[in-house]
Formats: sequence, C-alpha cells, structure tokens
Amino acid sequence: MKFQTLAQLVDICREDGVTIGQLMLSEQAKETGKSEEETFRLMADYYNIMKEAVHRGIHEPVPSRSGLTGGDAVRVTDYMGSGVTSLGAEACTALAYALSVSEVNASMGRIVATPTAGSCGIIPGVFVSSQERFQWDDDHLVMGLFAAGAIGYVIANNSFISGAEGGCQAEVGSAIGMAAGALTELRGGTPEQAVHAVGLALKNSLGLICDPVGGLVEIPCIVRNGFGAVTALAAADMALAGVRSAIPSDEVVEVMLEVGTAMPAKHRETAKGGLAQTPTGKKILKDLYGKGSKKPKKDGNQ
Ligand code: SF4
Repeated sequence: MKFQTLAQLVDICREDGVTIGQLMLSEQAKETGKSEEETFRLMADYYNIMKEAVHRGIHEPVPSRSGLTGGDAVRVTDYMGSGVTSLGAEACTALAYALSVSEVNASMGRIVATPTAGSCGIIPGVFVSSQERFQWDDDHLVMGLFAAGAIGYVIANNSFISGAEGGCQAEVGSAIGMAAGALTELRGGTPEQAVHAVGLALKNSLGLICDPVGGLVEIPCIVRNGFGAVTALAAADMALAGVRSAIPSDEVVEVMLEVGTAMPAKHRETAKGGLAQTPTGKKILKDLYGKGSKKPKKDGNQ
C-alpha cells in the first residue's frame, strides 16, 4: 500500500485528487493482482451479505446458539414504532441494524468481519441505515467500504484490531473509527475531515476492555455494536461540522496501542475479568457449562 498512516492517506488523496475509497480500490487491486472491476465486485458481494444480515435480525428474533441473547434488534425496531425515541429515528435505525448483524453473528449466521466478527454490526448498521436515509445506490456504499478498509488497514498496521491483543477498544473502537471516517466521506466530506472523524471516534473508546461473558461474543458485544453505530454517526457529524481531532488521529491510534499493550490479560478476551467475572457473569458461565466450567473455546470472533 502507498500509505501507512492516516496523514499519508490524506496527503496522497489530496495530491492525486481522489477519495480515500478510490485510493484504496486501486491499491487493493494492485496488491491482489485483480482488476479494479473484480475488486469492486467482490466488495459489492460483501455489502450484500451485510444487508442480508441487517434484514434478518430486525424482522424476527435471531437467538444466539447459546440461547443467552437474541431479539434485541426486534425489540428496538418495535419500540421505534411507538414514534418517540430519545435518539430520533435515524440513529435508532442504525442502532437496531447494528444489533441485528451482531445477533446474526452470535447465531453463527453469515456476516462480514468489519474488522472482526465481534464488531461486525457497526459498519452495516451505519451504512445500511444511511443508504436508506440518503437514498444512495449500492455502488456509493461499496466505495465507502473501501474507505473503511483503508482506515482499518492503517489501524491494524499501527495498533491492533482484535480484543485479544488490545481490548475492545481495538475491536469495537476500530469499527467505530472505520464507520465514522467512511460515513464522513460518503456524505461528501474531504479525506481530511474523514480522518478527523476517525480520531474523534477512536478517542471515545480508548481503554475499553474486552470482557465477554462466558467467553462468548454476545454480552456485552452485541450492545456495544449498537452503541458503536450511534457513536460513529456522531463522530461523522462532528467532522462534517468542522470539529477537528485536536490530537492528530495517527497519534490517537498510537495511544490505542499504548493502552492496549498495558492492558492486563484478564481484560483482553480471556473472560477472566470485567463483566465476565461479575457474580452474574460467573453464574451465566456456570449455567451454560456446569460446575467448574472453564472458558469455552472462541466462538467465531475474529
Ligand atoms: S468485548 Fe471482546 S469479544 Fe466482545 S466485541 Fe469487544 S473485543 Fe470483541
């Protein structure tokens, strides 16, 4: 890739007169040896999977394989039908869609890891709800996925994108940053504004630990995806309004690395701390796996 940092991303886009999505499409095609048309088509297939997952969980409850979770996307959708929400219809829709995709993941259904399975609801929640609201065609959203991919590439190479390495800030936090930057670009923001959105978003999840109850990517993961979608909308709005990340976004990424490296192992997906070790968290584990239960093998995260 021609870029390794978010600042380089902005510089190259400015010099070449392209969007982040356009730059990523051409770089990815070069790197994989595929044509740009084929690279675009593959990404369009991913977007279709995201849309399917969004729609699956909002029309009927999708219980998780463990039986612990499921149906929250339907609950939020039904609640929206009352016509009065605190967030307003648009943000509430993004929230419901993000919950839906995360529930599909917990049911072992088909999702796209963005950047991981644990954080798979945020980008679809933001993208599909925004597409409906702004009446964008699919191609526009597919270019947004390339923008999100470029941002994720930088974060992954300079920090982490998995809860096991850097806590939930790395997983849900990265997804929020990717969604926020991409949405900013989709809405006509400059690459510089998109990168500010990334920094604004990432700052809000620094220090977030990974503490899945029972070792399953369900509690608190599913609701964190819902919150993440709403945060991404807020970060994009701030960036489009001209709010800047006072700490440059690349430096925020470095802080995520520093914080994640210092994070104790019990807060990095081992289920040995945080919510997983609350009395209720332990009871859930015991109910699921019986006495003396140990953390189960990973269940589809990453
Ligand atoms: S709590 Fe851990 S497993 Fe769950 S979404 Fe966050 S990083 Fe992933």
